[in-house]
Amino acid sequence: MPFQSPHPRLTIPKCNILSYVFADNRAQSETPLWIDAANPTNSLSISQMHLLVKRFALGLDRMSIPTGSAIMVFSPNHIYVPMVYLAAAGSKRAFTGANPIYTVNEVSYQMKILDAAVVLIHPTLLETGLKAAEEAGIPRSSVFVFSDELRKAVQGIQDWREILAPAIEADDWRWDPLVGEAAEKTVACINFSSGTTGLPKGVCISHANLIANASQTIFIKFDKSGRSEKNPGSETWLAFLPLYHAYSQLWTINIACRLRYKVYVMQKFVFEDFLKCVQDHKVDAIQAVPPVLVMLNKRPEVKNYDINSLKHILVGAAPTGRELQREVTQRFKLKVGQGWGMTETTCGGIMSPFAEEDDGSGTIGVLLPNTDAKLMDDEGREVTAEGERGELCVRGPQMLMGYWKNEAATKESKEPDGFFHSGDVAIWKKDKLGRQRWWIVDRKKELIKVKGLQVAPAELEAVLLESPDVADAAVVGIRFDEDGEEWPRGYVVLQDERKGKVTEKDIQRFVAGKVAKHKWLEGGVKFVDEVPKLPSGKIMRKVMKDTAKKDAEEL
Ligand code: AMP
Repeated sequence: MPFQSPHPRLTIPKCNILSYVFADNRAQSETPLWIDAANPTNSLSISQMHLLVKRFALGLDRMSIPTGSAIMVFSPNHIYVPMVYLAAAGSKRAFTGANPIYTVNEVSYQMKILDAAVVLIHPTLLETGLKAAEEAGIPRSSVFVFSDELRKAVQGIQDWREILAPAIEADDWRWDPLVGEAAEKTVACINFSSGTTGLPKGVCISHANLIANASQTIFIKFDKSGRSEKNPGSETWLAFLPLYHAYSQLWTINIACRLRYKVYVMQKFVFEDFLKCVQDHKVDAIQAVPPVLVMLNKRPEVKNYDINSLKHILVGAAPTGRELQREVTQRFKLKVGQGWGMTETTCGGIMSPFAEEDDGSGTIGVLLPNTDAKLMDDEGREVTAEGERGELCVRGPQMLMGYWKNEAATKESKEPDGFFHSGDVAIWKKDKLGRQRWWIVDRKKELIKVKGLQVAPAELEAVLLESPDVADAAVVGIRFDEDGEEWPRGYVVLQDERKGKVTEKDIQRFVAGKVAKHKWLEGGVKFVDEVPKLPSGKIMRKVMKDTAKKDAEEL
């Protein structure tokens, strides 16, 4: 029998995400909701957002952009990213965002896989974006400059505002309500994840997925707090996590819009700007990743700012040490709650109820409402005993529709009974109330996480093999201390004739020239005689992980 959530079962609406976020005719307020943190006079109210969404959606219709096609944003965070996200999804196209620090190869990979129909590129990224579009065979007429301030065409590329239909005409535009099954079958966004193995893949998330995960999460946020969706109070948040990732999309677009919470949008995370924003805008709560907690705990600048307004920090996307969690909780007199999730779970699967005191155990919390879980051992048997380790498998209305145009990966990831293999190793224990609490204790899949961002070893191995010096390679995560950050480490077999002529640093430099910074081989490179492989040719990942563990102890 699978484990079930201790929470009551929620009745979750199935409809267009726009019906959910613009519900209750409350789309009429002029209060600024999305605010540029660097220039607060630049903002969007819910009614401005609502109208822009319609103008953009109608504009896409008029350009004859087919439903089902991908609208891609290659930009740092700004206040118009949520608008494109909602307009693309709401008009039955799919939003996809690319990391603004990506190189040409990385962006064109995503463009090519999705065959993006429209690409919006921030002015600061035009050079990379245009090269990537060219490589992916995307015509220039499908590319637009995506600035947050009014601009004329740049390098012959039109401004995104050219897509907008006139306001007076867009007012009559209506979204398809997508009631019932249609909400489950219509893709709303495609984020990228390597899943348990291989290269990054497009994760198709439906309207029903988004609404389910927002509803489940809102429940956990308000449970026992005296507040509810109908009576959410007002809060101010800070969007510094990247809006191309599921975590930020769920919270700072869908949930914030649904609850009408104010979001200050930061272009990128700079620690001192972050502290100043929290102080100046009296930010109540943030969604964070572990390195933000580390900085709060260690960096001296903290004492120059008054961040007393902060009452809750949700931390997820990578493991957080319980000492760190406890120290931040005590020092700042606020709550730090962990959450676990994946791009494939829309965002969240397990979360600590916000109103409950942290028990100091480093738990990731309890299963979200309507979510089941089971643990499997290496032989594929279910593990049920308290404290026993197993691969966490989850099932619920927030589970992905599938991987974009990749039936094999989709089939492999889900069991016939709907359970999805997370690749994370977990345990559960009963708490004082007899509920199951969960802990992530290891990661079985290949994935490496650097500052909460995915790094797929298969991608770096392919990059290494592009080097004429390299005969074979394996990449694995290495952690130099228990609570420390994870880094990609390369094990490289050199071509015979290159031995003694090439250094480890040369190999690190080669990779650094090809991929975004968080994928650099900061865990080092080690030359080896061979990469252990199975008869099928697959790298023996477990052996490599053990090698990295040993190396970490010796280094
Ligand atoms: P992503 O798809 O980028 O959100 O990455 C999902 C992966 O991040 C999970 O499968 C875990 O390996 C890791 N992860 C997410 N949340 C946590 C957490 N609270 N503790 C440990 N690992 C986590």
